[in-house]
Parts: sequence; C-alpha cells; structure tokens
Amino acid sequence: MSPPVQKVFSDEHLPASADVVVIGGGIAGVSAAYALARKGHSVALLEKGVICGEQSSRNWGWCRQQNRDLRELELARHSVEIWNKLSGDLGVDVSFRRSGLIYVTKSQSDMAEWSQWIAQARDYGVHSRLLTAAEAKDMTPGSIGDWIGGVHSPSDGRAEPAIAGPVIAEGARRYGATLHQNCAARGLETSAGRVSAVVTEKGVIRTNAVLLAGGAWSSLFCRHEGLPLQQASVRSTSFYTAPAPKVTEGGLAMEDVTIRHRLDGGYTVGLSGRGLVEISPQGLLYARPFWPMFKKRRAKLKISIGRSFFEGPEAFMRWKLDHPSPFERARTLDPPADPALVDMGVHFLRKTYPELADLKVVQSWGGLVDCTPDAIPVISAIDSLPGFYLSTGYSGHGFGIGPGAGQLAADLVAGDTPIVDPHPFRYSRMIDGTNLGAPGMM
Ligand SMILES: Cc1cc2nc3c(=O)[nH]c(=O)nc-3n(C[C@H](O)[C@H](O)[C@H](O)COP(=O)(O)OP(=O)(O)OC[C@H]3O[C@@H](n4cnc5c(N)ncnc54)[C@H](O)[C@@H]3O)c2cc1C
Repeated sequence: MSPPVQKVFSDEHLPASADVVVIGGGIAGVSAAYALARKGHSVALLEKGVICGEQSSRNWGWCRQQNRDLRELELARHSVEIWNKLSGDLGVDVSFRRSGLIYVTKSQSDMAEWSQWIAQARDYGVHSRLLTAAEAKDMTPGSIGDWIGGVHSPSDGRAEPAIAGPVIAEGARRYGATLHQNCAARGLETSAGRVSAVVTEKGVIRTNAVLLAGGAWSSLFCRHEGLPLQQASVRSTSFYTAPAPKVTEGGLAMEDVTIRHRLDGGYTVGLSGRGLVEISPQGLLYARPFWPMFKKRRAKLKISIGRSFFEGPEAFMRWKLDHPSPFERARTLDPPADPALVDMGVHFLRKTYPELADLKVVQSWGGLVDCTPDAIPVISAIDSLPGFYLSTGYSGHGFGIGPGAGQLAADLVAGDTPIVDPHPFRYSRMIDGTNLGAPGMM
C-alpha cells in the first residue's frame, strides 16, 4: 500500500517548448528542476504518476554522510548543507532536522569498518565519532541491547519523505517550472544527432536538453533509446507506527532494524539490507556486473520469479511513441510489503525497547530500490546523444543526497562549474569496460 505523500497540483497546459525537460518527479528530478529553475531556465517536469509516489516517499528519511561510499561524500556534505538552508530559501518547512544519526552494533567487523571509514572521512571534513560500548548504551537510553559500540554522526539529519519532495517541487514552480503529473514521457525525438523533443502521452515538448531521473524505470527508458544502463532493483519493506515514546531524536540503526523519529511522533522502521530480488529479463542481462554486489548482500536477500518477468521496469518491452508506453501502464510502482519482515521489525523493537512494548503498526509498504553495480549514481551527460542527461541509480541512498545531486545535474545541464567533481558519476563507466568492482559502503 502506498505511504502517504503530500499532494502537488499539476499545471494545466503542457508547454510547447522548454529549455530543459526533466523526466521523473522523485527527489532527483524535483531537486534538479528546482536548481535549474533557480538558474533562470524554463523547466517542464514530467511525472507518470504523482510527485514522489515511488522511492522518494517510501524511504526512511535518513539524510546522511555517515557510512557513504567515499566517492559520494563531497556530494553528501553539500546535500546536508543544502537541506539545512532549504526551508529558509523556500519559506516553507521542508521537514529537515539536523538531529544526528546513530549506529550501534554487536559486531567487531562493523566496528572495524566504521573506524576505518571515520579516519578516511576526516579528509572530507566529515567528523563522526566511534562510540564505546558504554557510550552506545548512553546514546540508546531505555534499550536493553548489549552493543559493543557504535558510531554517531552529529551533522547528519532526517526529513519526512512525504513532505520534502513535494515542497521542493513547489519551490521549482515558484521559480517558473511547470509540473505535469499523470504525464509519462514515452521517448525522445532527435534532430541532427541531438535531442530535439520529448514525446509525452499528452503531447510533444520541443527542447534541447532532457534530464532523465526515472528511478527504477531509467534503464527501460534508456534501452528504448538504444543506450545500455546497468540497473537492478531490490524490493524492500518498511512501515510506520503510531506515536510512541521517543527513544531517539534522529535515526538509529541497530543490527537489522532502523528507526527514524517522525514529526508526527511515530517511527518509520526499516529492515536494513533485507529484501526480495525478482528474476527479470533485465536482471539476467546485467547479472554479471551485479554479481559482486549480490554476493555481498545475498545472506539477507530472498529470490523469486514473479510478474517482473513480464511487466514493470525490468521486463523487455517495445513501444511506439504514438501508442501507450509501459510507463503509463504502471503509474506508481507499489510492491507489497513482506509481512514476515514487518513482524520481525516489530518483534525486535518490542524486545529491545521495553518502552515500545505497545508499538502499533499504522501502515507498511514495499519499495523498489534501484541500484547500479558500484552502488553510486549516474549523474552525467551522454556523449553519444548530445542534450540527454541522466540522474539515476541512487542505490538505496538517494533521498539524503538528493538536493546536492539535483544541483550537480543542473550544473551539468547548464554547462556551469559543477558543485563537485562529476567524474565518479559519469555514464561512460557503464560502457567503456571500467571494472566497476564491488560496491563500497552503502
Ligand atoms: C525502503 C527504502 C528506504 C530508503 N531509505 C533511504 C534513506 O533513509 N535515505 C536515503 O538517502 N535514501 C533512501 N532510500 C533510497 C531513496 O529513496 C532513493 O534513492 C531515491 O528516492 C531515488 O530518487 P529518484 O528520484 O532517483 O527515484 P524515484 O523516487 O523512484 O523517482 C523516479 C520517478 O520517475 C518517474 N518516472 C519514471 N519513468 C518515467 C517516465 N517515462 N515519464 C515520467 N515519469 C517517469 C516515476 O514514476 C518516479 O516517480 C530508500 C529507498 C527505499 C525504497
């Protein structure tokens, strides 16, 4: 069942032309639209369903630098700074709170990994602190967990996924962007080898620049344009609870279970690393580059064959631009939650925090996490198709990095000095034989 998301109204008329068309109204798309509109470009944002109906409203709301792949750390640092200023810039509460994040553990290997990460992160100006067993206990008052230690990142924060993306989208509109929901982009038109228009289900928009921020659908869209994009999805389960005693201010990760305190007094609960991989044609096509990631994560994954083989973002489908596309057939991806994982999370929290013995689940949901083989995104121009740009593949941690990623994508499209070095996020690494290796910290 879809988690709630703040409603955004659509603009009535599709423009005949725009400087930039952004495809996809998740956090990546709305943040890029906002940054582009602020630069003074005319922007049309297309969303096949509702703004932030997919991953960007289904996530836990962690906005973290902690435990990031080092290649993303600069972008994460900028993102937290942007989050911190957004409410002031927009004059509306975007729901970000710099409340810090805590991880606690019973595993020596977690401690070793975190300690190494903290030492490296200092070079990027990120100062997290390793916690002793006593400090971990102090920072989780009321819990009976016998942690051997933990890590605290005081400069990280949290935001409400149901609110943040829609508020940023409205911010883009304030700078002149138009927002079009229930409006799928079916494909591109080109002229003299470069992008000249986007064909949507409601008409054609002439443009010289298109940014695809299509989440789990990006690979399918690219395949239709003859561009390979290695992408695979894992279905995860989360839930939120009724208001309950406040046991932590921000986000707290404990072994398999994460909690994030919500502005409504409840918790958003996640089952870390656990999920379902449905075998699909796209999954088989890219099985090889994803093997190292799969090996690293397989202990917590279930595998099945289901409808993903024939429908949805990972099926092989063809369509013509004057006919309905697969994007119109699935307005909002709404995979079911795994009830066993919900039970596991509730049981763990009731056991670990006696204060939460009466915890009540209000709603649970599934979400498809779109990944790249190296678990860092593609934010990049596509050299073989001038005018076409990607911002996708956020690999389960794109919400927190969204504002910085939007700024970077906007800089690339506008030809401005990029906010961070874009090299790690280049599309070409997917096609030029670069060894993508195993993912770093996720
Ligand atoms: C359960 C869960 C927990 C997570 N927790 C966190 C967390 O705590 N912190 C964090 O940083 N990240 C987290 N993530 C990851 C984060 O949610 C995603 O990385 C991020 O939301 C991706 O944003 P996006 O804009 O790329 O994709 P999406 O939010 O999926 O948006 C893509 C949009 O594009 C639209 N679209 C696709 N194709 C077309 C088309 N042809 N025409 C028009 N529209 C189209 C789709 O309808 C969709 O709305 C979590 C994810 C999940 C599922």
